[in-house]
Amino acid sequence: MNNNYTTIIGLEIHVELKTLSKMFCACKNDPFFAGKPNIYTCPVCLGLPGALPVPNRKAIDWTIKLGLALGCEIPLVSKFDRKHYFYPDLPKGYQVSQYDMPFCKNGFLEVENTRDQPSYNRMVRIRRVHLEEDTGKLLHAVIEGKKRTLVDFNRSGVPLVEIVTEPDIRSGSEATAFLKKIHRIIRYLCISDADMEKGSMRIEPSISMCRKSDATSKSRPGLDYMIPAYRVEIKNINSFRFVRKAIDYEIKRQRELLYRGETPEQETRGWNEGKGITVSQRSKEEAADYRYFPEPDIPPLRWQQSTIKTIQSTIPELPDAKKKRFMETYDLSDYDAEILVETSQLADYFEECTRAAQKLMPDTGNQDIKQYQEINPKSLANWIINRKINFEEILPARLVTQIVQTKKTSSIDKGELEKIVAQVLVANSKAVEDYKKGKEQALMFLVGQGMRTSKGKISPESLKKLIADSIIRRKEQE
Ligand SMILES: [Zn+2]
Repeated sequence: MNNNYTTIIGLEIHVELKTLSKMFCACKNDPFFAGKPNIYTCPVCLGLPGALPVPNRKAIDWTIKLGLALGCEIPLVSKFDRKHYFYPDLPKGYQVSQYDMPFCKNGFLEVENTRDQPSYNRMVRIRRVHLEEDTGKLLHAVIEGKKRTLVDFNRSGVPLVEIVTEPDIRSGSEATAFLKKIHRIIRYLCISDADMEKGSMRIEPSISMCRKSDATSKSRPGLDYMIPAYRVEIKNINSFRFVRKAIDYEIKRQRELLYRGETPEQETRGWNEGKGITVSQRSKEEAADYRYFPEPDIPPLRWQQSTIKTIQSTIPELPDAKKKRFMETYDLSDYDAEILVETSQLADYFEECTRAAQKLMPDTGNQDIKQYQEINPKSLANWIINRKINFEEILPARLVTQIVQTKKTSSIDKGELEKIVAQVLVANSKAVEDYKKGKEQALMFLVGQGMRTSKGKISPESLKKLIADSIIRRKEQE
C-alpha cells in the first residue's frame, strides 16, 4: 500500500552573492558583519522616490557563471522585472527580479548513488537561474513594554540568485544529495559563502504526491508522473538536515491525507524544528498575484557570444571533474577522491603535497630515500584523510617531512625507542621534575635531547608523546 504514490519534489534555492556592493547601488554588501542596523543604505536600496537602479555587472557575470557551471543555456537577451507584493521588509513595494527572460535556463545536475537507490544516478533538470535583490530583515522585539517589529535594510538590495529545479527529485535524501552538490559548486566558483546558518543560502522545497497508477496510464511521454493538483511549499529551512526532515515529514503527512481520500491543500508551510513538524503558514499565491511587469528603469540586457565565452573561461575545474581526474591520475578510490574534493582548498592542498613529495625526494644513497619512495599520492591521500590534517596549519612540504620522520620512527624497533627515552629521562632528571610540576617548556627541552640522542631518527611529535607518556607512567608507579 505504501508504494501507491510517487513523491514529486522541486527545489528553489536562494543564494546571496558575495559581491562587494549591492545589486543596484554602491552600498556595501556585508549584511552579517554590519554590526549596526541600517548603516549600509542609500535612496536606491531604501526605495525612495526618484532613485534609479544601476545593475551590478559582477553579480550578473557571476549568475551566468553559475548557470554555465550547471549546464544552462544563456539566452542572448534578458531583462529584469518588477515583482509586486506588500511587506514591511520590501521598501519599494516590489522586488526587482526576473520573470520570463532569466539569465540562464534549461540546465541539469546529476546526483549519484542516492541512498534510497544505490548505484542509481538521478538527472535533475534545472529550469532556470535568475538574479534578483534580497529584502530587508524584520526583527521582533519588546521595546518599553510593547511588542514592536523593527526593520534592518542592510540586506535590502543584496544580489540574490535563485535556482529553480524541475520537479525531478523523488525523496528527501535525493534532495539533500542534490543540495550538497550545488553548495559545493557555488563554493568552488567563489561567488557566495552559501552559509545556510547565516542565511546566505536558503532552501524552499515544494512537495506533492501523485498516484503511481496515474503515472503509468495518463502520463505524457517522458514524464513518469501526472502533475498533481496541489503543491506544498516549505519555507525557512536553514540546514541540509532540516530539509530532509521536513520533506520526510511532509511525505508522511500528505500520504496519510491521500489515503483518507482527501487532497492536501495548496499552501506554504514552515518547518518547526522544535516539534519536528511542518505548520501551515498561508495559502499559496499564484504568479499572477505578483503583477510582474518589465523594470522600466533598466533596459533589456544583450549578450555577445564572446562575452559568455569569457565568463565560461573563468570557471575552474568543478568537483565532479576533479574527482574523476584524481581517481584516474592518482589511482584514488571513489571514497578518498570524494573527501579530497570537498573543498577546492583541500583538493589543491593534496596536489601540492604530491608535488612537494616529488620535489623533496633526495638523491639515491641518501639514508632517507626509502621513506620518500614510499610516499605516493595514495598514501598521501590516506594520511591527509585519516589524520584529518588541517591544511591551514601545516604546509605541504612540512607534512611530507613529517610523514618521513614518522616512517623512520616506526622503523626503529620498540626496544630501541624505549631505551632512548629512558636514557633521556635519566640524564635530565631536573627537566623531568620541572615537567611534573607543570612546566611545559621542560618537555620541549627533553624532546630536543631525544632528537640529539636518536640522531634525528625519531620525529619531535612522536618523541613528545613518548616522553610525556613515560613520565606519567613513572609518576603513577611512584
Ligand atoms: Zn544602497
